[in-house]
Amino acid sequence: LRETVATSRGQVAETEDGQRISLQLNVGLHVEQDWLRDIGIDGVGLFRSEIPFMMRERLPTEQEQVEMYRQVLAQFPQRPVVMRTLDVGGDKPLPYLRLSEDNPFLGWRGIRLTLDHPEIFLIQVRAMLRASIGYDNLRILLPMVTSCSEVDEAARLLRQAYYEVSEELGCDDGQQLYQPQLGVMIEVPAMVYQLEAIASKVDFFSVGSNDLTQYVLAVDRNNPRVASLYDAFHPAVLACLDDIAKRCQQLNKPVSVCGELAGEPGGALLLVAMGYRTLSMNSYNIDRIRWILRHVRSSTLQVMLAKALQSRHPEQIRKMIKVKMESLG
Ligand code: PEP
Ligand code: MG
Repeated sequence: LRETVATSRGQVAETEDGQRISLQLNVGLHVEQDWLRDIGIDGVGLFRSEIPFMMRERLPTEQEQVEMYRQVLAQFPQRPVVMRTLDVGGDKPLPYLRLSEDNPFLGWRGIRLTLDHPEIFLIQVRAMLRASIGYDNLRILLPMVTSCSEVDEAARLLRQAYYEVSEELGCDDGQQLYQPQLGVMIEVPAMVYQLEAIASKVDFFSVGSNDLTQYVLAVDRNNPRVASLYDAFHPAVLACLDDIAKRCQQLNKPVSVCGELAGEPGGALLLVAMGYRTLSMNSYNIDRIRWILRHVRSSTLQVMLAKALQSRHPEQIRKMIKVKMESLG
């Protein structure tokens, strides 16, 4: 019987020749529905912690955050949950923190804002750590990093939070606080040129292809006037993504992709061909991407990637992907 998208749900995400790909979930609020746990995902690759912050009228307290984060960690006890620290600014305003900037996407965003307000960062990572008591699946991800010094400062605050929470737990109650892995998003092009230096400071990388595309091409990701120029299949973006994958392999550093490209059929195929083995996407893309991966061979993907990297125009790549998709039915 022919495997359909629906019947592939119980199957592993692997290519025809057995290359296993970890499919993870992007989430913005708590993981509401039970069915999400059953669609065969390998964890949460991106929890956008700013979304619950944006839906309130004030900063959530530490205790409110503990409850929010615990709900997500508890849904996936045996699987990694990557929680990104607050990534506001740019297109994600906080209603209670009014900013007026000429270039918000080049301005006070992500880690820049939280390191200028270390109390916000500290409370957030304290809450993540407290939420993780009894679990070992928390990973912490830093957004919009540009420089090594930002990673050093964030790691210092994380250590401080870890010692505070460990101490509050008490040494004699036998409860050990799990030390979460720390990761950095690769979404500012400057990071691509500092992979070696940053790799020695963190446990993993996650490529934010949405912002990386915006910054490599200097095209606002939300401006309809330039929407036709915003294209993750642009040769410069593909070359950049390929370069990141190859260099992370050399550095032996785990790297995933959590931008929208990972949830697009053509994007997922090219990313796997480049060497990415973890893709994180919205829930509705999971079944489709799993099915596609189960119907291609690595050798075919290599041919597609070679063609894509030689193409001068995104349209050629789209055409090639369309032909491949049609051949799969
Ligand atoms: C990205 O930039 O690709 C990403 C995953 O983060 P966000 O879309 O939340 O900026
Ligand atoms: Mg981003």
